[in-house]
Amino acid sequence: MSMQPLTLAMLSIHSSPIGELGTRDTGGMSVYVRQLALELGRNGHQVDIFTHHRHESQPEVSGLGPNVRLVSLDTAPGRPLTKTELYACAGDTMAAIEAFRCRQDRAYDLIHSHYWISGHVGRMARARWLRPHVITFHTLGAVKADTGIGAAEPPRRLAVERELVKDCQGLLAPCGGEKANLMHYYGADAARIAMVPGGVDVDHFRPMDKTRARRRLGIEPRVGLLLSIGRLTPQKGQDRIINALACLDGDSRPHLMVVGGNGDGDPERRRLQELAARAGVQERVTFCGSVAHRDLPVYYAAADMVVLASHYESFGLVGLEALACGRAVVSTPVGVMAELARMQRPGIIAVEGSPVALAAGITIAWDRAPDWPDHLIRQSVRGYSWTNAAATAQEAYRAAMQADAAAHGRQ
Ligand code: UDP
Repeated sequence: MSMQPLTLAMLSIHSSPIGELGTRDTGGMSVYVRQLALELGRNGHQVDIFTHHRHESQPEVSGLGPNVRLVSLDTAPGRPLTKTELYACAGDTMAAIEAFRCRQDRAYDLIHSHYWISGHVGRMARARWLRPHVITFHTLGAVKADTGIGAAEPPRRLAVERELVKDCQGLLAPCGGEKANLMHYYGADAARIAMVPGGVDVDHFRPMDKTRARRRLGIEPRVGLLLSIGRLTPQKGQDRIINALACLDGDSRPHLMVVGGNGDGDPERRRLQELAARAGVQERVTFCGSVAHRDLPVYYAAADMVVLASHYESFGLVGLEALACGRAVVSTPVGVMAELARMQRPGIIAVEGSPVALAAGITIAWDRAPDWPDHLIRQSVRGYSWTNAAATAQEAYRAAMQADAAAHGRQ
């Protein structure tokens, strides 16, 4: 649906949309913010994305695409700040955004925050500009805490998220599971939650000949190959995949390629390597470190299947990318994968996260491979495009603006 072009302030404070994907704080949210902003820009909206993460030689303002600018805020002391520090200096961040806005003589129609730290700044922007503030949380502290996996969240997080759910002018959820989480854990009103799913660029993520892909990566043509792609964090459950590998029959045991992480010195990588050694599968597991998004299609194509063992996903772009490349996905029932599995779309096996269940899922996917040609699996992602994401976001913006205007008697 077309609408008057808007001027949007998008806050992506803790993670840059052009950061190195697969590293600690840079993953699906960065892809989502970048792709959504680019699509909104193509639709004629003016989008300024504000981030704290400043790269070496990154100018204050850089163009990402038509009508889309990235504004790197220089309030950090020359090093990346922790989330607790970013929370603590939210006032400075807001002052830097406001100084930029004044210098540029811009007025924003709406603020779209991503993650709770941006939400905290976004609330200040709302108070100052009196414009509607909408949020996509990209993971919720209460759900993460409930999994009991990984480091404890900053103590403020849950309180801030609760306040934001109450105060903001619109909540954007990427899938039904996250909408249910917002309602269950935060008492959010269903009527204030708009669905704005993520997407996949099907021109980039497309099937490719497996043999050719393996030749490019130097992988033996006949070996069974599982692929895991994602940030290396306990929430992603890479340890469960390694344990699942150990449950598979020794003779026909496949290899596992793990993409993501901060390289050799990454403590989570060391933990996983030690685990693989203890499970007796270290010879079968290769850690590749992070790989540029543009280079990933060849990795998907080289694999026999992708395994996602996350304890929690707010959405889960990797699953969509794998399917778009025609690769089956064995996944825990999280995010968009739970939704697609319920719809019985081809190429998805949803299993609980125990190593035995994952191993059983991998075996089932192997047996079903002849029924699942690449083009059939690829059909599973129909409807998940960035064009659709922008269309649904625009609709959510319009609803938030109308409701806000009505609440203030401006209609
Ligand atoms: N990704 C990447 N290189 C890597 C690891 C991940 O480009 O080495 C990308 C991946 O393709 C996906 C995103 O990072 O687009 C991860 O998104 P997802 O929603 O799966 O996980 P999140 O990071 O949000 O937990």
